[in-house]
Amino acid sequence: MSLKDIRTSAYELRDLFTSTPPQVSFEFFPPKNAEMEEKLWESVTKLAPLKPSFVSVTYGAGGSTRERTHQTVKRIIHETPIKPAAHLTCVAASRAEVDQVIRDYWDAGVRHIVALRGDPPNGAKEYTPHPDGYTYSSDLVEGIKKIADFEISVAAFPEKHPASKDFAQDIDALKRKIDAGATRAITQYFFDVDVFLRYHEMVRSHGITIPILPGLLPVGNVTQLIKFSAMCGASIPDWLLSLFEGLDEDPTTRAMVAATVCAEQCRLLRKEGIDNIHFYTLNRSELTFAICRLLGINQSVC
Ligand code: FAD
Repeated sequence: MSLKDIRTSAYELRDLFTSTPPQVSFEFFPPKNAEMEEKLWESVTKLAPLKPSFVSVTYGAGGSTRERTHQTVKRIIHETPIKPAAHLTCVAASRAEVDQVIRDYWDAGVRHIVALRGDPPNGAKEYTPHPDGYTYSSDLVEGIKKIADFEISVAAFPEKHPASKDFAQDIDALKRKIDAGATRAITQYFFDVDVFLRYHEMVRSHGITIPILPGLLPVGNVTQLIKFSAMCGASIPDWLLSLFEGLDEDPTTRAMVAATVCAEQCRLLRKEGIDNIHFYTLNRSELTFAICRLLGINQSVC
């Protein structure tokens, strides 16, 4: 490769500004108390002017946040111009109970659901469906569509779901969700962009054409990240761990490193033409806001 080729094939940080900015979306979780609620609303208020295509609100394990998810989504509808997507899971609830949540969402003005199976409750290793419940997320998607014409997003796993024996099983599961009515997938977080790009190519080669949004997690707390990643099957590359080594007591440097790592992921994704990016905000706006600025998303021009 000549120097000229390298120059023309490189996609530099400045190219993020000269190309059309990507569409972004943000995930929040429902707050547990008044203080957390205030923090969430500060974040929503800061990020709303970036005009996300939607923001999603998670649903706690076993439906533990049913009320709080509902309240948060309702408040977003009433107090912001943003379209919320409410997460919903199958775990520990009968079909009748889940169907009621679906109807309540519709009545509250929600038109987009992120449909998930959910993880085994209370640290159980094996997932056991509720005897009268929806078994897999594809069943839930089907159930939602029978109730009302929601827009439906589902989960996707660039490193495959830990319970899938191989990628073939994993992609079959994704296909079933799409056949049932899902029109978008959001991925589990990942750090090596190649992992996402390989998965994206594999999914496309199986005839799946819906948007697959890369889910990016700006790293806040490495200890928590290690714990959570062990449960959800996301790998943490050694290079990432070494970047954060020795920074436990240094939040300012940690934030700078985290923003740089995530901006670099965005740069590589944009270079490959990925034009929708989903951020796991953990209800903190600072990192996501900074990264969106680096993507050329500026509230004064969007
Ligand atoms: P499924 O699509 O049902 O797949 C689960 C496993 O079952 C896979 O291994 C799949 O291959 C297998 N499978 C699927 N269908 C079949 C079938 N017919 N026969 C045999 N095997 C099958 N969890 C929460 O509790 N609350 C949230 O708000 C939440 N939000 C999330 C958001 C995103 C973007 C992501 C990526 C995950 C989220 N999760 C959430 C975690 C999610 O609930 C877990 O990852 C869960 O273990 C899998 O959910 P799923 O919807 O992919 O399940």
